[in-house]
Amino acid sequence: MTNTQALDGALAYAARPKQLLIGGKWRDGEAVTETENPVTGGTLATLAEAGPQDVDAAVDAARQALGDPAWAAIRPRERAQLLLRLADAIEARADEFAALEAIDSGKPLRNARNVDIPQAVDHLRYYAGWVTKIEGAAITSNVGDYLIYTRREPVGVCGLIVPWNYPLLLAMWKVAPALACGNTIILKPAEQTSLTALRLGELACEVGFPPGVLNVLTGRGEVTGAALAAHPGVDKISFTGSTEVGKSIAAVGAANLTRVSLELGGKSPNVVFADADLEAAASGAAWGIFYNMGEDCCAGSRLFIQEQVYDEFLAKVTEAARAIKVGDPFADGSQLGPLVSGGHHARVAGYVDGAVADGARMVTGGGRPDYLPGTEGYYFEPTILADVTRDARIVREEVFGPVVVATPFSDEEHAVRVANDTIYGLAAGVWTQNLGRAHRFARAVKAGTIWLNDFGPATPPRRSAGSSRAATAGSTAARRSTCSSRPSPCG
Ligand code: NAD
Repeated sequence: MTNTQALDGALAYAARPKQLLIGGKWRDGEAVTETENPVTGGTLATLAEAGPQDVDAAVDAARQALGDPAWAAIRPRERAQLLLRLADAIEARADEFAALEAIDSGKPLRNARNVDIPQAVDHLRYYAGWVTKIEGAAITSNVGDYLIYTRREPVGVCGLIVPWNYPLLLAMWKVAPALACGNTIILKPAEQTSLTALRLGELACEVGFPPGVLNVLTGRGEVTGAALAAHPGVDKISFTGSTEVGKSIAAVGAANLTRVSLELGGKSPNVVFADADLEAAASGAAWGIFYNMGEDCCAGSRLFIQEQVYDEFLAKVTEAARAIKVGDPFADGSQLGPLVSGGHHARVAGYVDGAVADGARMVTGGGRPDYLPGTEGYYFEPTILADVTRDARIVREEVFGPVVVATPFSDEEHAVRVANDTIYGLAAGVWTQNLGRAHRFARAVKAGTIWLNDFGPATPPRRSAGSSRAATAGSTAARRSTCSSRPSPCG
């Protein structure tokens, strides 16, 4: 399929009337909402917006499906096969899914094709593999001759609320494990990027998921998302998005005693020691922040450089940033597309302008690339700011765009201190050829994922209990072959 064919197909799909998927049937919502085309700024799609009554209907359908023998009583092997059939169906339409993702979010078609869609399929297959391996435990009694055992059972009706930066992939991080464990789900995609979730719903019906097992509700967060999160018939909310909305969902979950999982924002440090392979680190630092237009919760948005190589390294990262090609997501060679929406573009520009007004030095970038003709589209250059203070807004708050702040540090103790100087703790990176230092850093920095001589790759999680952390070491060879297009988003 050529890029033009992919674009035309995605535009045609976007233009078709959109409905909600409830109980295996498509129906209108209580209202409608429009999405923007990030390349033109015009309307891309008109979506149904689920109101409270639609949410009631979806919860009822999901509850009913939970007890339906067609879902509740199927053997694990058959449930696994349903997941695998869905994975096959997405894979067979990977180009179509990639084009929908690109047109909706603005990400380059190439990245959606090479990263988002294959990884979504991988996740589904990975969790399909777990279906037949869900085990309880036999527990020794110390009060008598009893046999005690536990059984793993579905939590119930799960509300899955996802953001717009990796729409299908992040949806799949929730959909796949929830279905693998026999739950029923109500998927609520972000209002900016709902097309792949709707297509997923169509395929789930086609491959044979019983009605009500997978429901899709589109609509704005404050309407559809809020009604779903507050619904007393939902047993579990899994939310990925902003910290602010996450707090409101935690509060409503506490009031209803609903189980809640939250994956929220980030302001991740990427720390470069003077002994690092500086060429590799410069590429890693650039792609660590600019991949997916910086719209990545783990993005390395705080770059710390050891002072003896500060100027030299900043020059290398600047060169790498300037070499990145921003352009139409469907054009060959585009490495970054536009930001997702006009509102988000204004927000990112506001952060950058505010930082400069507060005294930050603009090293490169700062606005629309001058080589892009016209004024349409929400393009923003890879941007590096320097000479900032630790309390500056640009240092403390998540921008969620292609903007990094560079700061020098003196020694290892200082590096750990500045890396940990944040309310966030999603991810961190360290670049050094000193193995002991790399592992000391991984232990000392408070982040869920820490990359050693790399920044970005993610893998489906193993079952985890408590607060485990992952440290991932990249080999130089692997890093060099992947950094020109960061292979795996963190989210
Ligand atoms: P957002 O919080 O505005 O929206 C996320 C989702 O929540 C959307 O589906 C939205 O419709 C919904 N929502 C909005 N308000 C709601 C409400 N009051 N009640 C219920 N649902 C509501 O975030 P966003 O702008 O879409 O995404 C960007 C944010 O997501 C960033 O902060 C980013 O760091 C974070 N994120 C985190 C991860 C992670 O894995 N930790 C991954 C991707 C994005």
